[in-house]
Amino acid sequence: MFESAMRGSKAVRIAIVGGGLTGALLCMRLLRSSHGPFSIALYEKQPQRFCRGVAYSSSLPYQLLNVPAGKMSLFVEAPDDFVHWLEVRGVRHKPEDFVPRRLFGDYLCERFAQTLAAATPHEFIRIDSEVVDLVPVDEGLRIEAANAQARMVDRVYLCTGNFPPGELPGMDLSVRESGRYIASPWDGSYLRHVGKEDTVLVVGTGLSMIDQVMSLQERPDFAGQVIAMSRRGLLPLPHGSLEPYRLSTSLPSSPTARGLAQWLQNEIHRAEQSGSCFRAVIEALRPQIPILWSALPLRERKRFMRHLRPFWEIHRHRIPQPTAERLQHLIAADKLRVLAGRISGLTLTTPDTLRIDYVSRGQTQPQQLSVNWVINCTGPQTDQRQLPSPLYHALCARALVQRDASGLGVLTTLQGEAIRSDGEVERRLVLVGPPAKATLWESTALQEIRHQVHLLVNGLEQEFTTENVA
Ligand SMILES: Cc1cc2nc3c(=O)[nH]c(=O)nc-3n(C[C@H](O)[C@H](O)[C@H](O)COP(=O)(O)OP(=O)(O)OC[C@H]3O[C@@H](n4cnc5c(N)ncnc54)[C@H](O)[C@@H]3O)c2cc1C
Repeated sequence: MFESAMRGSKAVRIAIVGGGLTGALLCMRLLRSSHGPFSIALYEKQPQRFCRGVAYSSSLPYQLLNVPAGKMSLFVEAPDDFVHWLEVRGVRHKPEDFVPRRLFGDYLCERFAQTLAAATPHEFIRIDSEVVDLVPVDEGLRIEAANAQARMVDRVYLCTGNFPPGELPGMDLSVRESGRYIASPWDGSYLRHVGKEDTVLVVGTGLSMIDQVMSLQERPDFAGQVIAMSRRGLLPLPHGSLEPYRLSTSLPSSPTARGLAQWLQNEIHRAEQSGSCFRAVIEALRPQIPILWSALPLRERKRFMRHLRPFWEIHRHRIPQPTAERLQHLIAADKLRVLAGRISGLTLTTPDTLRIDYVSRGQTQPQQLSVNWVINCTGPQTDQRQLPSPLYHALCARALVQRDASGLGVLTTLQGEAIRSDGEVERRLVLVGPPAKATLWESTALQEIRHQVHLLVNGLEQEFTTENVA
């Protein structure tokens, strides 16, 4: 490994694909390393989103982080870094406050610029282009990008984030072309076109749905209704203060989805008896999740996804208490209706009206709704075959990755290295953050991404040093 880098102490050639939070953080960690030197090329296909990615590009002050400021430091070794940054900027806050996402984006951009300014002896180049293929050549990989010269590297880190949701079932072409179906919750440009009496259907009842509801309610003239629908109609639970909790029993050794659910219920019951709560149990469990998830047999993972996933999501991905209260007020005022049901068809009936066919949970009779807008908030597309990404299709065609049979992307080791279709580990290719979900399950929030990046850079430094010495 890194033979080219060893010869004559040349730099280790690294490519990072994706310049959102994950790619930017990995890049910063490498640029701050006292090992190397590293020669880093960072590719980003949407330059306007550099550093901020989808999550932290929002300029809307009411779109808040869903994690308290005190837990949003970029650096494991400096847990108060974000809080200090806020203080220096004169932002009034407490560590337990939920600040606007825009501020976190500003923090990320500033720390990146500072790191770059002090980055000797490493080299860095940013390439604003989409990576479309990786070609194995000898010890390395050749990166093919849409409008940039090919480049040879020793290692590639895929930090490509989440993809937009998959298509809704039963949608006819006229709906797609009507301009009234919004395929991605991260495209907020539709908001200013919504009429003040319009009815908006949001498909999905998780965090992205809440973003849409809050954004519409911020429009002073909006007097319409939002209908949110998901299979179970469950809403994320609120955050609350929590003291660290130590799990009182060991994890089940041969886990099944049902066994895990039972174990978790028992653990929560014990926590509540000792004055703690479910939140503390979930937080205590988080570091163990990669081991737990990767040990679950495929059949059990599929069971978890089919029956337990919605319950996990609402306990794990929580919202600030004031947001939860606001949602309850909107429900009480009939400005927000939450339905449990399954959509079977969407049809355009007039240029500005859509008919939604659905079946309520527990019923068999089809029902209908008439709405003016449909926003798809069903969660990121993870099925490898459906991803709108030439790169992932090329990786599959080259057998450099193996599709996860439960539909969560591609398989990796616990360290994120790709597993090729012949079952061998492809050490030149590492997936970080959301693309590593198939093996790690929880791989989206800063806490998990920060931890992964920390381990990866430590491992790389160690490998490089060991091989250099050898
Ligand atoms: C709305 C929202 C709010 C969130 N709030 C929080 C929060 O409060 N706290 C928390 O801990 N987590 C939060 N998260 C989760 C988490 O922080 C994000 O998912 C995180 O931003 C992921 O970063 P990323 O860099 O992996 O992905 P992204 O931000 O999606 O960035 C990936 C980048 O890769 C680029 N790319 C993709 N393919 C290619 C290619 N082939 N070539 C070149 N470039 C490519 C894309 O253009 C994109 O810019 C939130 C997520 C969302 C969506």
